[in-house]
Amino acid sequence: MDNGSLFFTYVFCALLVLTLVVRTVLASRQTRYVARHRDAVPAAFAATIGLDAHQKAAAYTLARLRFGLLESSWETVLLLGWTLLGGLHLLNQTLLTWLGPGLLQQLALLGAFGLIGTVLNLPFSAWNTFRLEARFGFNRITPALWWADLVKGLLVGALIGLPMAALVLWLMGAAGPRWWLWAWAVWMGFNLVLMVIYPTLIAPLFNRFQPLDDEAIKTRVSALMQRCGFAAQGLFVMDGSRRSAHANAYFTGFGAAKRVVFFDTLLQQLSPPEIDAVLAHELGHYRRRHIAQRMVLMAAVSLIGFALLGWLSQQAWFYTGLGVQPALDAPNDALALLLFLLFVPLPAYFLSPLMAQLSRRHEFEADAYAATQTNGQDLASALLKLYKDNASTLTPDPVYARFYYSHPPAHERIGRLQGASA
Ligand SMILES: [Zn+2]
Repeated sequence: MDNGSLFFTYVFCALLVLTLVVRTVLASRQTRYVARHRDAVPAAFAATIGLDAHQKAAAYTLARLRFGLLESSWETVLLLGWTLLGGLHLLNQTLLTWLGPGLLQQLALLGAFGLIGTVLNLPFSAWNTFRLEARFGFNRITPALWWADLVKGLLVGALIGLPMAALVLWLMGAAGPRWWLWAWAVWMGFNLVLMVIYPTLIAPLFNRFQPLDDEAIKTRVSALMQRCGFAAQGLFVMDGSRRSAHANAYFTGFGAAKRVVFFDTLLQQLSPPEIDAVLAHELGHYRRRHIAQRMVLMAAVSLIGFALLGWLSQQAWFYTGLGVQPALDAPNDALALLLFLLFVPLPAYFLSPLMAQLSRRHEFEADAYAATQTNGQDLASALLKLYKDNASTLTPDPVYARFYYSHPPAHERIGRLQGASA
């Protein structure tokens, strides 16, 4: 191995170790903090949350942390297996022998990588659903539906992903040194199309969506949307309870194709004023242009990503440093894509606190918006119910929360809401 490759191998290993150390330190901080606060409900919540619910949340949080550490250790093993231990190289060589060089071989490499990765993660996915979630009473999915979801997911992924991958691979080979700019444009267009077809064509493959038929809620919600100057194509109820007891509400689509989707579990748990408040929070994300900001940010980040990929794919050390010999007489574009997807999460992990912080700021802004359009107290009580029903901890470690939390911790969020309405 030449010096450049060796150096890159060291960088890769250093990042890998550093990520694992930071993950473990943060998880053990969170574990200690939650365990230490297990036996007393924080004063601010003592009137609304019982000790039983608080202890269930602690147990659930600790179980999720243990599972998360196990999962990230397994991911590290897989990452080493694909790269330095030669897994990706072996797969590539095998497919070259079978199929010869060309677009078909490259697509087969991407497809086989995705399929093998899915199979190797199956035990974790199954354990998560049928052991962990089930133990805390959250799982509702049957094994038959779980398998059906898996097969459907793979088919839809292949149907949408393979043509997209073929287009990008073709651009990499045929569009000259600035191929990454074209590929980025294609990628952005693809995402826009996905935003349009996801709610109407893809999501219905997995869930049933029915127009909201509760007249009382419909009237309230329509009045709220009118007040907020928001036109949506429809209000839908999704049968989230087929899979899980966790509750949610969201918007999909954009422009005139926007729709509001309530999980049936949410409608069961919240009172009509609370549903209003949760919806007002979601509307707040639109009114404060968070969705647009996020799209612009995603466009910028992916442009940087494609430019980086364009450069890395030309460097021999990028391949050899990660345990792969690039072929001299065949295109290496699919290899470059996969190595990039394997490597980039490592440095990106250290940027995640920035994204989390931005997201938390948006949550505060959406809460503030909701408090002006509806009653802040209703949002506070809705959030408390959701915290309780989802067994989310009310006592996260402050450092852990800063690093990972996309939503502000309960006491900050509810404190602000109550301050705003007092
Ligand atoms: Zn939000």
